[in-house]
Amino acid sequence: MSTDIRPIRIYNTLSGKKEPFTPITPGRVGMYVCGPTVYSDVHLGNCRTFVHFDTIYRYLLHIGYRVRYVRNITDVGHLLDDGEDRMSKGARLDQLEPMEVAQKYTVGFHDMMRIFNTLPPSIEPRATGHIPEQIEMVESILQRGYGYESNGSIYFDVLRFAKDNPAIYGKLSGRVVDELISESRDNLKNQGEKNHPSDFAIWIKASEEHIMRWNSPWSVGFPGWHLECSAMSTKYLGPTFDIHGGGNDLKFPHHENEVAQNVGACGCAPANYWLHANMLLLNGRKMSKSEGNTITPQQLFTGDSPFVSKGYSPMMLRFFMLQSHYRSTLDITDDALLAAEKGFRRLMEVHAILQKLSIPASATDGSETDTDRAILALVEEAYQGMDDDFNTAVAIAALNEIGSYVNKLANKQIESSEVSPWVLERLKTVFNAFIFDIFGLREESAADNGPIEQLMSLILDIRANARQQKDWGTSDKIRDALTEAGIQVKDGKEGVSWTHSRG
Ligand code: AMP
Ligand code: ZN
Repeated sequence: MSTDIRPIRIYNTLSGKKEPFTPITPGRVGMYVCGPTVYSDVHLGNCRTFVHFDTIYRYLLHIGYRVRYVRNITDVGHLLDDGEDRMSKGARLDQLEPMEVAQKYTVGFHDMMRIFNTLPPSIEPRATGHIPEQIEMVESILQRGYGYESNGSIYFDVLRFAKDNPAIYGKLSGRVVDELISESRDNLKNQGEKNHPSDFAIWIKASEEHIMRWNSPWSVGFPGWHLECSAMSTKYLGPTFDIHGGGNDLKFPHHENEVAQNVGACGCAPANYWLHANMLLLNGRKMSKSEGNTITPQQLFTGDSPFVSKGYSPMMLRFFMLQSHYRSTLDITDDALLAAEKGFRRLMEVHAILQKLSIPASATDGSETDTDRAILALVEEAYQGMDDDFNTAVAIAALNEIGSYVNKLANKQIESSEVSPWVLERLKTVFNAFIFDIFGLREESAADNGPIEQLMSLILDIRANARQQKDWGTSDKIRDALTEAGIQVKDGKEGVSWTHSRG
């Protein structure tokens, strides 16, 4: 079976270049992606990263791999810069038990993943469900001499590890070890307990007020954030597995320290290929809550934000995300969203037209035509785009070009005799595969577009009927009422559209 799988190339952050992908076990892939820290609502940046890894998972499945996809839930240990645990802070602010916070935002995260039509991972381990595994890993690190105890907490000895493994520490993030070693991170809590500022906690003694706490050989405490991913990926995928993914911002310190912990604990590097998705921007700047430069998925769906002129459906947003390669930054602007919406509609229309087309066998003489060859080359281009580091942008561009053939065929600008029936059937299969299986898009009904879109569609229908019957009174009344409500109606060549006039 494995010999039939298309060869693919993957950009590996470890080597800084594209490499042919060779899994450890032919025909199988083990993939670990860092999941969300469930102390607040999932944001659009998170969604982008998970949508891209979902598409990578879908493509690996599509080309015939058996994939074990592990994506964790971080529900302990991810500390803020001031040293407070994100979960504890969430609990304190909402006056909840930390597990209530974790549950609330895990449910919210799952809902959002369903809205974006991502497939559930094969395993979704929680950090709090794997405390014994994390304690065992701390023990292994201590036994191999890469950890030390200080006042009940255990720290990873970065200096010693870097000296013993100069080719490993810093390779993933591109940091120069000497610089790291001289770097001071004064703002980290418990700095005083460390031998060196670069060291990081793998087990943290809980202070009196810290609610999330477990017994360990060293203290009542809790595990460090980096440790959980090392322990859970090892448990479910083995000490060395194929792909490890996450957002760019996790390269350092999280992923660099994961590598150090795995090598420190068992002498083996965790993943052969490290993939990093790039960041989501809003109007050219990193999306950031503290700077007010942020928009929630819900605000994008409803259009209730000064950053957008209208609401955009989840599937259109998924399409928008896939229009750019996962390693490029993606800038959300209203203009880009409006353009992507048109592109999404066009692609779905082509799909609908294609399914209705048929060419009788009698229309051709059975030989391959130039048009056949041109269409098949574009199909191959779409696949090759995905084979080349999962380049969804290239694949979408190839499908769009196929779309112009489909439209010409439907408009009779291309004769039926120019396309062989089997080529048309192949196109139908390929379009279905790309749109639904690989890109993970879904047909949307008006109901998916939210109540405002539904209402607007109803109002614009009534207005169109009035105009058709030359009932200008009703038509003007509707327009004036909408203007009053801050909605501007535009009659363009491609039909009627509307925007919030304040946008
Ligand atoms: P977190 O919940 O902060 O641990 O992040 C979960 C995932 O989302 C990680 O893979 C992050 O790298 C990723 N992520 C966080 N912010 C962004 C962003 N602005 N754009 C893209 N991915 C992000
Ligand atoms: Zn992680």
